This record gives sequence, structure tokens and C-alpha cells, in this order.
Amino acid sequence: MGGAGADIAEAYELDSKDELAPFRDRFVTDGDVVAYLDGNSLGRLPRSTARRLNHLVEQEWGRGLIRSWQTWTDLPVQVGDHLGGTVLGAAPGQTVIADSTTVNLFKVVDAAAGMRPQRRELVIDQPNFPTDRYVVEAVAAARGMEVRWVPPDPAGGVTPGSLAPHLGPATAAVVLSHVDYRTGYLADMAALNSLISDHGALAVWDLSHSAGSVPIRLDDDGADFAVGCTYKYLNAGPGAPAFLYAARRHHADARQPIPGWFGADDIFAMGPHYQPGEGGRRMLSGTPAVMGVAAVAEGVALVAEAGIDRIRAKGIALTELARRLARQWLEPLGWRFASPTDPARRGSHVVLAGERAQAVAARMIAAGAIPDFRRPDLVRIGLSPLTTSFVELWKGMEIMLQAARETAS
Ligand SMILES: *Cc1c(COP(=O)(O)O)cnc(C)c1O
Repeated sequence: MGGAGADIAEAYELDSKDELAPFRDRFVTDGDVVAYLDGNSLGRLPRSTARRLNHLVEQEWGRGLIRSWQTWTDLPVQVGDHLGGTVLGAAPGQTVIADSTTVNLFKVVDAAAGMRPQRRELVIDQPNFPTDRYVVEAVAAARGMEVRWVPPDPAGGVTPGSLAPHLGPATAAVVLSHVDYRTGYLADMAALNSLISDHGALAVWDLSHSAGSVPIRLDDDGADFAVGCTYKYLNAGPGAPAFLYAARRHHADARQPIPGWFGADDIFAMGPHYQPGEGGRRMLSGTPAVMGVAAVAEGVALVAEAGIDRIRAKGIALTELARRLARQWLEPLGWRFASPTDPARRGSHVVLAGERAQAVAARMIAAGAIPDFRRPDLVRIGLSPLTTSFVELWKGMEIMLQAARETAS
């Protein structure tokens, strides 16, 4: 297999020079998968997480029983602060781990809308992730607001130029993805935040595909609210709780729609009326999913140890290799590289568009290379810098080439 003029020795060479290569052994990588190209949908299992969860279940829960809440109660805030400091560019007291991305998004979009009661519009781009669109439509319907849809930008994601015509004195809040889940387009957060705040509106970011893959500077770039997944590049496991960031300057004014005892001032006061807790804690609702939060702690610790700048550098090297192999092997067969060609404008996954994408993805999976198929014609290649090796990517692309040849008419 393979294409003319390309030799897998090159990938072995890249792996041998890769400073992050040792991190691969910190994850479970045995099994029958040849090339896991879907770590951006479900990251691999860190070995430390298996140990931590086992200890949590057997010892903390099994033997410690309710006494263990002494250590569990503050976990959502402690892990949130660690994530904020190492991954999100957020000072302490603004980030919590809780609920799902969808639920958190509802909380912050509703809170943002409530902070601009005279304004009637919520803005979101048409190609945004389904959950984001559904939540925006639901908040708008509940509050009697309108949704302003930003049409797809040829860049592959929202740019200041495509957003500006949709902002005005009626804009309450804008919901954007930092890295587009299909194209991988990496939005210019600082520029978009300043455009949005120039219009007196609030910026809500979905960081699901950027947290743990690209540097994020929520505080410095002036974000208002943010949410995101922990089971993608943060490797916290299926259904692990999400994160929520609320900038400190909004804590006094933001009223979240699901106030619960875990976000209250004094959890055990059991008072007659809700009094919001200190800082970002007020965004919590009910009892945290402790096992999930512990898994987030392990995932964040690995990303923090590797360092987001090294992760970003490897992410670029991986997507550049994917792009080159796509150009050499797949473009001659009619496939198109549908992610930004400028590495500064893309995250850690790429997509290839082709007529028989669904059949190709199915063949790849049967041959041990696992990408994601996204309708109608996209094969998405997720490259997770802590766990994807260059050889793994190379083998996956070879399998894709083979599948593309077999399905070509
Ligand atoms: C994966 C993803 C989600 C997932 O939300 P859940 O509530 O965890 O199902 C949300 N938004 C984006 C952009 C995603 O990529």
C-alpha cells in the first residue's frame, strides 16, 4: 500500500523526535485498533483514570461512605480552577465542572439573555453544532426573542467580516464555536469578542473542540461566558461532566436558570430562598457526578503536564502531515481537503470531502482505522496530540487511500 514518493519511515522519524511521544504510554492503547482518528469525539482512556476511579469506587465510596463528601464537595470548583488555569486561560473562581455541555450552554445563554433585557436578538451561525442551535432557539422561544442566523462563511467558520452585518443594537448575545466541529476552523476569539462587545452584546463560546487542543485565553481575550466538553481532547471519558466559565465581572448580574443547593451560598443552610454562592460556584445546580469530575481531574492533569503549547505544536505537525498525504494520495482520486489550509486557522482535526465518504468511512473502520463520518460527504480525521502517533496517522491515511480506491467507480 501507500502512494508514490511517500515512505512511512518518515513517520517513524517524526515519532522518534516527538517530545510528547512518551505520553502515549500513559493511555490504554492496546486493542485491535490500528489508527484511532476519533479522539476528538471520545478521547482514549488514561491509565491513571482507571486507577483513580477504581480507588474512588472501592475506597472513597465503598469504605468512606458519606464521609467522603468532605473531599468530594469542592471537586467541581477545584478541578474547574485547574482546568481554567492550565487550559482555558481563566483565573480561579470562574470555572466549574458540571452537567453536560448542552445544559451548561442553556444556563449561560439564558443568563446572558437576561443581562440584556431590552435586546431582542440572539445570534448564532447556521453551521454551528446542533446542540448550540437548539439551545439558542429554545432560549429565544422562552424569552420571546428572535434568532439571527449567520450564513456559512467560505472560510469554514465565523469571521469578524461574516458576523458584523448581523450585530446591532438589538443583539443580546452571540454563540460561537471556537473550533468548528466539521471544518476544524479556529475562530479569532479576541477579534470576535471585541466586535461583539463594541455592540454592547455578550459573547458565549463553545470550546468543545478546542479545550485541550489549542491555546485558549478566555480572560485576556475578553470572553463573557464559555462551555465545553471534557470527553474529547481532555480524555475524561464517555458522558464526563462538562465545564462552564463565567467571567468574574458578570457574577453579580448573571442569574442562571437552574439554581440549586450546590450553587447556593451555604449548601447546608437549607434557607428559605436561594442565595447564590461565591464566584463561579453559583453556576452549579445539583449534586455533582463525582466519578466523572474525578475523571476530568485526571485528563486535565495530563494536558497540564504536557503543556498546551507543545500540544498545539504537535497538533499542527499532525494536521500538516494529514494535509500533505491527502494532497498526494486522495486529491488525485477526487477528494478535497475541506479544512483551512493555514494551520494557524485550524484546530487539531481535518476533514476530507468526497462523494463516497460514508462507504469509505465504513471500510476504514472495518480495516481498523476509525475516523468520523459527517453527513453528507465528510470524513473527519481527529488527531489528538497526546495519543495519536505520526505512524498511526500514516497507517490510517493508507487505509483511507485503499478504501477510496476500492470505492472509486
Ligand atoms: C461534542 C460537542 C457538544 C456535545 O454536547 P453534550 O451536551 O456533551 O452532548 C456540544 N457542542 C459542540 C460544539 C460539540 O462538538
